[in-house]
Amino acid sequence: TAVLHLRDVVKHYGDTRALDRINLSLPSDAYISLLGPSGSGKTTLLRVIAGFERLEAGEISFQGSRIDTLPPHARGIGFVFQNFALFPHLSVEDNIAFGLKNSAINPVTDPGVVKRRVRDIIALVGLTGLEDRGVSQISGGQKQRVALARTLVTEPKMVLLDEPLGALDANLRMRMRSELRSIRERCGVTFLHVTGSETEALAMGDTVLVLDRNRIAQHGDADTIYNRP
Ligand code: ADP
Ligand code: ADP
Repeated sequence: TAVLHLRDVVKHYGDTRALDRINLSLPSDAYISLLGPSGSGKTTLLRVIAGFERLEAGEISFQGSRIDTLPPHARGIGFVFQNFALFPHLSVEDNIAFGLKNSAINPVTDPGVVKRRVRDIIALVGLTGLEDRGVSQISGGQKQRVALARTLVTEPKMVLLDEPLGALDANLRMRMRSELRSIRERCGVTFLHVTGSETEALAMGDTVLVLDRNRIAQHGDADTIYNRP
C-alpha cells in the first residue's frame, strides 16, 4: 500500500524549473531508487518531501495526512546527507543519541531509554564495539552507518538518502549496496535513494523512479525499467 503521495507538485528557483507537476505514489516497506541526470530535479524532490523547500503548487500527503504545510521535524521523515554531516568531536554513540535527545517534536530525555534505543540501532547497523570511538577515527563505511543510525533512532517511517554512496570509494560503494538493502529490510522503513548511477539504481531499488527534465519519465520495478527501450 502507498505511504507517500505527491499531487501536481511544482517548484522553480527563480526562472529555473526544478519540478514540473510531479504526481507520484510510493509504497510502504520498500527500497525505491530515484534515478536521473544532473539537473533533473532529484535533490529538489527529496528536499520538498523533507520540508527543506516550500512547494509553489500541489500537495504532499504521508500516511493519510497533508504534510506540505508542516515543518521538517514534524513530518516523520528522516534524511541522510551525502557527506554524512556528523559531529566530528563526538563519539559514535553521542552522534546517534544527539538527535534523539534534541528532537524538536518528540525529545527523549530518559537516559535509560536513550541508551537502550541507541544500543539497539548500533546493533542493527553493525557498529557494536565502536560506541566510544570518535567519528574521525572510523572508516567511510562506518561513518555511513552512523549517519543512517542517527536518522533511524528517531523512528522515521521513511528515510530520504541523497547520493548516500557518493562519498565512498568504488569497493566500499559495492559493499554498502547490499548493506543498505539489508538494514532497510531489518527496520521495515521505506528508503528513497537518489543516485545518478543506472547500475546502482537497478541493483538496489525494488522500484525505480526515473526523473528527466524535471518530470517523472518512468516508474516501475527494476526489471521492467531495464527492459524498456
Ligand atoms: P539533480 O539533483 O537531479 O541534479 P536538482 O534538484 O539539484 O537536480 O536541480 C534541479 C534544477 O534546479 C537544476 O536546473 C538546478 O540547476 C536548479 N537548482 C537547484 N537548486 C537550486 C538553487 N538553490 N538555486 C537555483 N537553482 C537551483
Ligand atoms: P568498513 O567495512 O566498515 O568500511 P573498512 O574495511 O574500511 O571498514 O575498515 C576496516 C577497519 O579499519 C575499521 O574497523 C576501521 O576502524 C579502520 N579504518 C578504516 N579506515 C579508517 C580511517 N580512515 N581512519 C581510522 N580507521 C580506519
